[in-house]
Amino acid sequence: ELSLGTSTLVVLVAAIGWFLSRLAIEPIRESYESLKQFTADASHELRNPIALIQTNVQAALSDPEMTPQDQRQQLETVERVTQRLGRLVDDLLFLARQDSGMIQSQFQDCPLDALLMEVLEEQRAIAQAHSVQIQLQLGDDRDPKGPGTDPFTLQGDYDQISRLFTNLVSNAIQYSPPNGTVTLKLTRKISQGQATLKVTVQDQGQGIPPEAIPRLFDRFYRVDSARSRPASAGVQSGKSPKGGTGLGLAIAQAIAQAHQGSIRVISTPGTGTKFTVLLPIGTSKGRKPSA
Ligand code: ADP
Repeated sequence: ELSLGTSTLVVLVAAIGWFLSRLAIEPIRESYESLKQFTADASHELRNPIALIQTNVQAALSDPEMTPQDQRQQLETVERVTQRLGRLVDDLLFLARQDSGMIQSQFQDCPLDALLMEVLEEQRAIAQAHSVQIQLQLGDDRDPKGPGTDPFTLQGDYDQISRLFTNLVSNAIQYSPPNGTVTLKLTRKISQGQATLKVTVQDQGQGIPPEAIPRLFDRFYRVDSARSRPASAGVQSGKSPKGGTGLGLAIAQAIAQAHQGSIRVISTPGTGTKFTVLLPIGTSKGRKPSA
């Protein structure tokens, strides 16, 4: 009887031990796996433009017959690819810093209406080049605190929030048809006693198929996977149709989360896509300036 009790106890303790170790190890294993995947994907993405630069430079150096026009063309490709490489490294650095908690967020008063106007101004030339209209609509919310305070001001990192909306707006423009309109709406709502700023970015573009939505915010994910293939014609010539990194939405989401906010997406293929960003206005005292 005694020995049965002891062995049951041993088995029980061993089972609990195994269960606890699984519980502790599993998240570490998962984050290790995703880090490994991130490193592999990043190396892969970096290798393509570097190979492209090498090919073009070698061709220009080794062909004595090459005309100045041809040389110029090669250099233009190198310039385009170098710019893309710069964007990629910049995005990778942002995410790596974010992962390691090294981002120094500067939380301050951010008037979101002015910030969005600025983002639209910066994107206007690109929108015009695509024949796309961009507009901002403000909800006529009255500030419950009375006059003198801006109803659309939140506590956040100005540069990061600009980056979040730049990524969403530039996507909306890039995926818009000619003569399409990109509409931003900024409203303020109160839920559970907390004021939240809501921004929607709506386009009339090709939309996103429903099966792509769950992976949309994954790093390096692109709906049109041909674009992410190293051997695709676009990458080979350095003329990626969008020149994106596949990291824009991952970064946008990381920034929203660092501000205790969220991003949702609703899309109807053929009709358009709407991203909704919710950002609590926060209080200057109650927030930690952490990533
Ligand atoms: P990229 O640098 O490729 O734009 P993102 O992370 O910003 O990377 O976006 C990931 C993918 O989501 C894009 O490649 C595109 O397929 C899809 N996408 C993002 N925004 C839109 C949009 N407004 N309309 C249609 N597709 C979009």
